[in-house]
Amino acid sequence: MKCQIAYVASLVAASLLALPASAHPVADDPATAQFLANEAVLVFAGETKILFDPLYTQSYNNYPLVDPAMRAALMAGEAPYDGVDAVFISHIHGDHFDAEDLNTYLATHSETVAVIPFQARLDMRAAANWDESLEARLHVMSFISGPQSLTIGADGDARALQIEAVHIPHAGGAGRAHIQNMAYRVTLRDEATVMHMGDATPDAAPYAAQHAHFQARTTHRAFPPYWLIQQWGGEVLRERINADEVTGIHVPIRLPGAVTASSEDFFTRPGEQRGVHPHED
Ligand SMILES: [Zn+2]
Ligand SMILES: [Zn+2]
Repeated sequence: MKCQIAYVASLVAASLLALPASAHPVADDPATAQFLANEAVLVFAGETKILFDPLYTQSYNNYPLVDPAMRAALMAGEAPYDGVDAVFISHIHGDHFDAEDLNTYLATHSETVAVIPFQARLDMRAAANWDESLEARLHVMSFISGPQSLTIGADGDARALQIEAVHIPHAGGAGRAHIQNMAYRVTLRDEATVMHMGDATPDAAPYAAQHAHFQARTTHRAFPPYWLIQQWGGEVLRERINADEVTGIHVPIRLPGAVTASSEDFFTRPGEQRGVHPHED
């Protein structure tokens, strides 16, 4: 209950945030992103739908959980969570991922594949409800420093999802170095490119090391953890990751002053949407 009150307060505060005019989705956007909570984001382009970090159970008394009704609709595959082609997991922390829930979800949704770090596969296989038949639908990212790519067909389009991923170390320094945190760049239907970065570090060095990867393709809208915007500013961030627009996620229940005072864009309200489209200029 205490959590719910804090959550309502965050919604009220969030409504005061300015939203850049370019952020609102319009009918001819090739794709739309819709926020659930924390780092959980749905992106859809026509029939092609993906979810990032949607199934988790830990708030650590700091981050919003997915609203129970939203979570129930997601698990049941009710609109807008019907026909999800792929679930992406950034890393295994409990505010992003629950192995048992993902096993249940995949068992229930036989058309959905999962793109996951190697560490998530270990947790899924160790969970009580693991079923060997799920293995065929896991696309497992190795814990290596170099870029990894993958193309997944869906909805009659062999190139529905073009995925390029790199490991960007987890924020928090050496104590978190053992966590495989994946930054996924996903192009849907050859039209709209999004990036989800998990809990990527604000240390600049890993981004410099992956410069060629980031420059290889422009991201139309990226979803960085809010601390990257807070620490670098939007301009530097967009430059470093080669993104036209950024919408910060992982915003704590109690909105940081740096977020409320910022002119940058953040996802804070469940269900709010942003368009994903190539820059006009
Ligand atoms: Zn984490
Ligand atoms: Zn996190």
